[in-house]
Amino acid sequence: MKYVTLAKHKLPVIVIAGRPNVGKSTLFNRLAGRRFAIVSDQPGVTRDRKSVDILLNDRSVTLIDTAGWEEDDPETVHGRMRISSERAVDMADVILFCVDARMGITPVDEHFAQWLRKQGRKILLVVNKAEGHSGNVAALEMYKFGFGEPIPVSAEHGEGIMDLVDRIEVELPIEQFQDNSALNISLENSEDKPLRLAIVGRPNAGKSTLINQLIGEQRVITGPEAGLTRDSISVSFHDEKGEIELVDTAGLRRKARIDETLEKMSVSASIEALKMAEVVVLVIDAELGIHEQDLQIARLIEREGRCCVIALNKWDILKDRVATRQTIRDRIEMSLSQMHGIPIIAFSALTGRGVHKLIPAVRKAYDIWNKRIPTGELNRWFEEAILRHAPPMIDGRRLKLRYITQTKARPPTFILFGTRTSKLPLDYQRYLMNGLREIFDMPGTPIRLQFRDSK
Ligand code: GDP
Ligand code: GDP
Repeated sequence: MKYVTLAKHKLPVIVIAGRPNVGKSTLFNRLAGRRFAIVSDQPGVTRDRKSVDILLNDRSVTLIDTAGWEEDDPETVHGRMRISSERAVDMADVILFCVDARMGITPVDEHFAQWLRKQGRKILLVVNKAEGHSGNVAALEMYKFGFGEPIPVSAEHGEGIMDLVDRIEVELPIEQFQDNSALNISLENSEDKPLRLAIVGRPNAGKSTLINQLIGEQRVITGPEAGLTRDSISVSFHDEKGEIELVDTAGLRRKARIDETLEKMSVSASIEALKMAEVVVLVIDAELGIHEQDLQIARLIEREGRCCVIALNKWDILKDRVATRQTIRDRIEMSLSQMHGIPIIAFSALTGRGVHKLIPAVRKAYDIWNKRIPTGELNRWFEEAILRHAPPMIDGRRLKLRYITQTKARPPTFILFGTRTSKLPLDYQRYLMNGLREIFDMPGTPIRLQFRDSK
């Protein structure tokens, strides 16, 4: 769990910078609000800036927003921006340089980037307003800043925020431990941060029973998260590979109080949980078989780009196990193309039999979700795939596909370059997607395939 700690030493400073209107304030609020607890007021950070101490994963940091300063004199926007940003940037360990995916790169952005480059700070390029699929394509354009891999987010819709947090975390300076035992507890696992796991499913599928099995005697700390979230509790446990944090078990507790809306709650609680999670275990009552609502949750998992393990529970009371497993697999794969090859584990949460298979499956799914494939390997496969099965003619003209590259992981995301790629039929897209999945061994993980016309 996260702890509230009054840290007296200087925390790493993250500064949000960029021209007006790119969404800096929105990003600030998104990072400051949500699930991150406010830790303390950092002395030494002047009050005229919006600044807040927050927890990013397991690290306390000070977040500073430069929004609002540069807007008071629009006549000399460059000059003012520079002066007002200078002091914040001076303190920064990491700068989040924000641009707008919809507007593309403006002269003001270029000017600002040029100045930032000279400041000798770590810079992450955040491409905001990248909701939906436009984001990654716009992000590609932004490579030319030379600030490394752009990070597409939508501050307003909360997309891509976890990726951003992960990227920030990598850039933070090594923690200087002080003699502060409370702080040491909270940072114990900051090197090896826990895998965030959500356990979701319909009411009575056996989620609580499963959690009790998983935690067993190892129960670490449960209790209300101090600060922001009212009734979210978090539980963690260890396996031989490290810590696993069960996120948002609050959804489980809440249901005990509100009986009549149980069915609805299980879907909405799942949404919350899976936004915070990296891996999602969808628990299904195998005796009842798969239900439309299970598929609905699975679709959400797919849409949010999380990886998933299906858990068939109550295996102890099942008569025809082989047929049940097959029926459920067929239903899932028929309704969810992205879940092809998804791991399905069967057990009895009640007796504990078979539960030991779950966490290794979770770890494996997580590794696949994080997978990165070198561009060379990808294109060797790609050439062959196109040779074997050429893209179709559209209006009598051949549609050209040139090359493919992976732009990110979590989930694996690829961009395919060619001409008239928007015309590529769905079944051909599926052919490529299935090929990727099979050749590079990525069963059960959502794969994002995007297209871009090159000249
Ligand atoms: P700042 O001047 O850089 O601090 O920008 P603001 O945070 O005030 O945002 C400027 C405008 O962009 C506001 O109208 C926001 O609602 C909007 N905005 C912020 N983030 C997003 C986003 O992710 N997507 C979209 N479409 N609009 C956004
Ligand atoms: P939740 O609503 O998903 O948290 O479900 P619970 O964990 O509260 O379980 C609902 C009911 O199913 C309880 O009566 C459990 O004892 C029962 N149950 C859970 N797992 C199993 C199992 O593996 N086998 C059997 N036979 N019953 C189970």
